[in-house]
Amino acid sequence: MPKAVGIDLGTTNSVISIMEGGEPTVLVNGEGARTTPSVVAFKDDQRLVGQVAKRQAVLNAQGTLFEVKRFMGRTWDEVKDEVERAPYEVVKADDGGVRFKIGDDLHSPEQVSAMVLRKLVADAKDQTGQDITQAVITVPAYFNNAQREATQNAGKIAGLDVLRIVNEPTAAALAYGLEKKGNETVLVFDLGGGTFDVSVLEVGDGVFEVKSTNGDTHLGGSDFDYAIVDWLASEFKSEYGVDLKADKQALQRMIEASEKAKIELSGLPETTISLPFIAMDPASNAPLYLEKKLSRSKFEELIRPLLNRITGPVQSALKDAGISKSEVDEIILVGGSTRVPAVKDIVKDLLGKEPNQSVNPDEVVALGAAVQAGVLVGEVDDIVLLDVTPLSLGVETKGGVFTTLIERNTTVPVRKTETFTTAEANQTGVEVHVLQGERSMAAQNKSLGRFKLEDLPPMPAGMPQIEITYDIDANGVLNVSAQEKSTGKEASITIQNTTTLSEDEVEKMVKDAEANAEADSQFKELAEARNALDSMRAQAVNVINETEDASDEDKQPLQDAIDEAQKAIDDPNVDKARFEELTQTLAAALQTFQQATAKTDGEAGSEADASDGGDEDDVIDAEFKPAE
Ligand code: AMP
Repeated sequence: MPKAVGIDLGTTNSVISIMEGGEPTVLVNGEGARTTPSVVAFKDDQRLVGQVAKRQAVLNAQGTLFEVKRFMGRTWDEVKDEVERAPYEVVKADDGGVRFKIGDDLHSPEQVSAMVLRKLVADAKDQTGQDITQAVITVPAYFNNAQREATQNAGKIAGLDVLRIVNEPTAAALAYGLEKKGNETVLVFDLGGGTFDVSVLEVGDGVFEVKSTNGDTHLGGSDFDYAIVDWLASEFKSEYGVDLKADKQALQRMIEASEKAKIELSGLPETTISLPFIAMDPASNAPLYLEKKLSRSKFEELIRPLLNRITGPVQSALKDAGISKSEVDEIILVGGSTRVPAVKDIVKDLLGKEPNQSVNPDEVVALGAAVQAGVLVGEVDDIVLLDVTPLSLGVETKGGVFTTLIERNTTVPVRKTETFTTAEANQTGVEVHVLQGERSMAAQNKSLGRFKLEDLPPMPAGMPQIEITYDIDANGVLNVSAQEKSTGKEASITIQNTTTLSEDEVEKMVKDAEANAEADSQFKELAEARNALDSMRAQAVNVINETEDASDEDKQPLQDAIDEAQKAIDDPNVDKARFEELTQTLAAALQTFQQATAKTDGEAGSEADASDGGDEDDVIDAEFKPAE
């Protein structure tokens, strides 16, 4: 049976893990390591991925792509800083995105990430002897829809069926099995190689909710390494007058030695950095050695300015989640840099509690992703709902119908756009009523807010194309916008509390919907039949108005059918069958009228028909009430 894996596709390192004997397990790569640098290098027609690519990075700066995750799903305009920092060449793509230019070739961030994924999966196949086709991939909680889609596409390019994109902090909490506990507030502190993320989660009964996220996209372990490199270089310069940073090879060796020293200092009070033959003495032409003792306290002094940048985001995350530090039940450490003792001390001081560190911080996200993969392929029994919309979200359309845009249990963040139109001719505005719930009738669902899109130019009914977009971010904040396409007129509303319903409320709403399913569907069918008749009526009125020179003899039967339709629409006791019958009668009358008038005014008539039909194809047959 093909296996599903969990993949932490990290900024600096990636990890792949799988369920084995009911437990998530990290798989080692071809080099025998549990983490694989997310680095891809192009060198003499060769493509290198992982540790071998990382090792030659400084010597082949233009041909080595690293921290590609920073570019995923982002437009050229969004990544100005990243482009400036990158030692490799980044260019603007025709679609407004970015490409990495290596020689004459252009590579998208998705393609490069796919190369990393392919190596992880190929090594995992070798390791397990099993075919691997499905994966859960993690992303930072703050990733928007475009960044998530890009990650999903990277998986597809790598030949994977991406079962789900999961938030990294959620995966970390899953690895700890926190979903099995009662309601808990969890703070996930993630300090990796290049980025720092803090997230506050509400976890309980299998449901995860990201309450807030914060961080610093340019703070991580590499900065600690560079702090040591800077110190080594400046000490060396004052001793020998040689600038080691100007020599690429020397710089590469210092970076590697500094990272090694930093890692050693997580376990030891002191270490020695030793780099023989690092340079030539310009005076004597004799080889120079770099040999330096580095104590943990000196290292902490070097990185103090970096450590000071941790406090702000943690405090902001607590504030945004609306909690104090004493309300945090669990602290989870994620990312290799949380092994630095000074980092752990800061976390403890800031939150007044020992962090939980029983799971390896480099592996915890991938392990949680494997648990989720296991759930999705049925290997793990527990039902886990991750960061989902608890109820469907939609809009009230004509006849009091609730039209769903986002189904319940959709993973957030999510963005969905649909096109609507007007019910009446010359309607100058529409009211967008945003609701949440499972019932077919808007009135039975929970109203979240309303707004008006106004000042529309006079147009026939059904002509305006009004695009409604629902966009829920990772924090559950819903932004609804409406735009009329021909004028570009726009209006929107932001709703903060789409997920604050208690579990009981959600359950009650779902149960109510189930209990009333039959009645609701009858109501909906009735409303739809009434709306269909009303659309036909509006179209017929349009046609009559536009065909001024038609004779009364031709007009009368159609006018009668229109009047009869209007009477039925206004009568609350008319049933579905009657609406359908009247729609057919009206359609037939309209056709007869059009045929009769086409004889006298052939060309104009058929042109009008063609454009009417074209407009109708593009819009959903659901209409707003006029906004008065
Ligand atoms: P991650 O992005 O989570 O893989 O974290 C990678 C970063 O963690 C790199 O900067 C590593 O140098 C750093 N790191 C890994 N292990 C340790 C350790 N034991 N002590 C300090 N930093 C570490």
